[in-house]
Amino acid sequence: MSGPAGFVWDPRLAAHVYREDHPLKPWRLRGVHDTLERLGAFANPRARLLAPRDATRAEIERIHDPAYVDTIVRASAEPDRDYSAWGLSAHGDTPPFAGMHEASLLTTGASLVAMDDVLAGRARVAFNGSGGLHHAMRRRASGFCIYNDPAIVCGLLADRGMKVAYVDIDAHHGDGVQAAFYETDQVLTISLHETGRALFPGTGFADERGTGAGAGYSVNVALPPYTDDAAYVRAFDAVVPALVQRFHPDVLVTQQGIDPHFTDPLTHLLLSTRAREHVVGWFASTPYPWVAMGGGGYDLDAVRRSWSMEYLLMLGAPVPDELHDQDPPVASGRQRAAIDTEADAAVREALAAAFR
Ligand SMILES: [Zn+2]
Repeated sequence: MSGPAGFVWDPRLAAHVYREDHPLKPWRLRGVHDTLERLGAFANPRARLLAPRDATRAEIERIHDPAYVDTIVRASAEPDRDYSAWGLSAHGDTPPFAGMHEASLLTTGASLVAMDDVLAGRARVAFNGSGGLHHAMRRRASGFCIYNDPAIVCGLLADRGMKVAYVDIDAHHGDGVQAAFYETDQVLTISLHETGRALFPGTGFADERGTGAGAGYSVNVALPPYTDDAAYVRAFDAVVPALVQRFHPDVLVTQQGIDPHFTDPLTHLLLSTRAREHVVGWFASTPYPWVAMGGGGYDLDAVRRSWSMEYLLMLGAPVPDELHDQDPPVASGRQRAAIDTEADAAVREALAAAFR
C-alpha cells in the first residue's frame, strides 16, 4: 500500500561521536540523505522531510527508570567519571560522551516525530535512520544504545490502546524491546537475528517466548552464522507474514538495522540488498500504518545503499541498480545444506513457541 512516506532528517542527528574508534558512526546517515537527494527522492510528491524534536523526560521514562535518566544526564555533563554500574564504560561498547543525553533525546524524538506523523495520517510510513537503539534496558545502557527509542514508541502506542507488531531485522537480537513487553500481549515482538551462540547479546532463543499474558508474544528466530539471502527469505516468509496477520496489529513498528549485510564487519550473516528488498517490500505491501527505524550497520557503504533503497521502497519509487549489491554471496553444496537445516529448525522452533 503506498502513500506519503516521511524521512526524518536534521544534520544534528548525524553529528555526535561515540568515540573516534567506535564502530557506530552517526555520520553514516549523511550518505543516506545525500544519496536520496541526488536520486531525486525528496522531489517525489509522496516524500515528506520531517524535522526531529527532543523527546520529553516523560516519554523517556515510559521505558527507562528515572535514576537511569539522571545518570545519563550526569554522564553527559561529566563523561570522565565511572558509570560502569549503568552499562557505560570508556573503552567498552557504550562509552559515556559529552552531550550524550542531548544527542539521545534528539534521536529518540526523531522516532517520535515519525510516530506522530503516521498516527496523524499525514504519512503511511515514516523512517528515522538514527533510531532503532534496541539494546538499551530499563536501567542499563547496552550495545551502543542509550535510550531505547523503539521500545518507547511501542510503549506509547500501546498506551493509546493500540496493538503493535514490532519486527526487528537487525543482525542482533532485539533484547531491550523484548524485555520491555515480555509480559503483555499488546506488543508482539518478532526478532530475526544471528543466534546468540555466536553473537552479542547472547539471547534471542525460541524459548524466550514471553510470560503471563505475554506468553507466545515474544518470537525469536535464531539464525545460524552465514545465513544468506535464500535461507533468510525463506525464514522471514515462513514466520513474519503469518504471525503479523494472525496478530492483526493497529501499527507496524520495524527496526531495520543493516548489520546482517554480508560486508558488515561485526556479524556473520550474509544478506544482500536483494533479501532486504524482499523483506522491506513486504512491510511496504501491508495495510498497516508503519513506523520504521534504523539500527546497526557498520559497513558505511552498505548502510548508504540499503537504507536509500529501503526509503525508495517506502515511497513506492523504483530502485536504481546502483543501490544493489552486484555479487551477493550464495552458499552451495554442503554449506548450503547445513545453513538450510539450521535455519529451518529455527523457524520450526519459533513457530511452535508463538501464540495461536
Ligand atoms: Zn545490530
